[in-house]
Amino acid sequence: MSEILLEIRNATKTYVQRGSKSKRQIVALENFNLAIPCAPASIITIAGESGSGKSTLANLVLGFTKPTSGQVIYQGQDMAAATPQQQQRYRREVQAVFQDPFGVYNPFYRVQHVFDMVIRNFRLAENARQGRDMIEEALNIVGLHGEDVLRKYPHQLSGGQRQRIMFARAYMVKPRLIVADEPVSMVDASLRAAILDVMMRLRADGISFLYITHDLSTAFQVGDQIFVLYHGAVAETGQATEVIRKPHHPYVQLLISSIPDPDPRVKWQGTVDLPPEEEMRTIDSPGCRFHPRCPQRMPICLQAAPPLYPVSTDGQRAACYLYDQDVKRGKLQA
Ligand code: ADP
Ligand code: MG
Repeated sequence: MSEILLEIRNATKTYVQRGSKSKRQIVALENFNLAIPCAPASIITIAGESGSGKSTLANLVLGFTKPTSGQVIYQGQDMAAATPQQQQRYRREVQAVFQDPFGVYNPFYRVQHVFDMVIRNFRLAENARQGRDMIEEALNIVGLHGEDVLRKYPHQLSGGQRQRIMFARAYMVKPRLIVADEPVSMVDASLRAAILDVMMRLRADGISFLYITHDLSTAFQVGDQIFVLYHGAVAETGQATEVIRKPHHPYVQLLISSIPDPDPRVKWQGTVDLPPEEEMRTIDSPGCRFHPRCPQRMPICLQAAPPLYPVSTDGQRAACYLYDQDVKRGKLQA
C-alpha cells in the first residue's frame, strides 16, 4: 500500500465561458499539487476568495469533474484508470460534506431516514440492531444524542445540528478522507468552533480532511497544512499557523493584515473575509495573476507565472519572484 493516501499531480481545470459575442477559457485551477499522507490523519485547508477555484478542486477530488490535465491518484491508483471496484472503494473512502446541508435533506423525511439510506447504500449493517448502534456511535462522535434528533424533520434542526448530522453520516461510512466544502460558512460564528471541534475529533479518529474555507481564522485553529489559492493558483502553502503568523506572498500579507487582531495567540473574533475578486482570469494572460493588485510588482512578474519558492526551512513556500535567488541578488546589486 502506498504511503500517500491522496495525491493531486499537476491538476489543471479550464472552463470555456461563452459570452454574447465571444468565448473565452477560464483557468479555474492551475497546476495544482497536493499529497495527503496515509498517516497521521490531517486537516488540509484550502483557502481563497470566492472564485479562486476551491470548489473546482473539491469536485475534482470527488470525481464530479475530470481534470483538463493532471491526475488524481488514490493510494497509488490514478483514478482516471481505476476499475469499477476501485471506483466503488474510492466512493466509500472519500466522503463529502457541503456548505448547505439543508439542500441535501428531503423536507418530508425525518433525520432517521438520512442514516437508514446510508446504511442501505453502503450495506453497513447486518441487522437493525447493528444499524442502531452505528447511528448512535456516529451521533455521539459529533456531539448529538439519539432518539430526539432522529425523529426530527430538517426544518426542526439548527444549521449547526444539520451540519453535524452530515459529518455523522460521512463518519458512518468509515472514510479515510472527508472533503468539506465551506462547511461552516452557513452557521454563525458561535457554532463554527463546535463544527471545527467535530472535525478535529474525527481527525483524532484517523480521518483526514480537505477543508475548504474563505475564513482564515478557522484555518489557524485547525493547524496542519494550508494552501492559499489566488485565481486558481497556489499563492502560498505551509503549516497554517506559520503561514498566518508570517505570510510571505504579498497577497497573503494583505489578507492577514485585514485580520482584526494580528496576534495569532488571541482567538480571532468573527469572520475574516477575503477581498472581492476584481478581475477575471483568462488563459492567455501570462505572468503572476496577482500582478495588477500587487504593491511589490516587478517587470519579471509579467513574464511567466512564478513557481513556489521555499521561504522557510519547514516547508513553507510562496509563489512570488521576491523569493527567487537571482531576483534577490539582482536587487542587491541594483
Ligand atoms: P470557489 O469555489 O473558490 O468560489 P470555483 O471553483 O467554484 O471557485 O470557480 C472557479 C472559477 O471557475 C470561477 O471563475 C468560476 O466562474 C469558474 N467555473 C466554475 N465552475 C464552472 C463551470 N461549470 N463552467 C464554467 N466556469 C466555471
Ligand atoms: Mg465554492
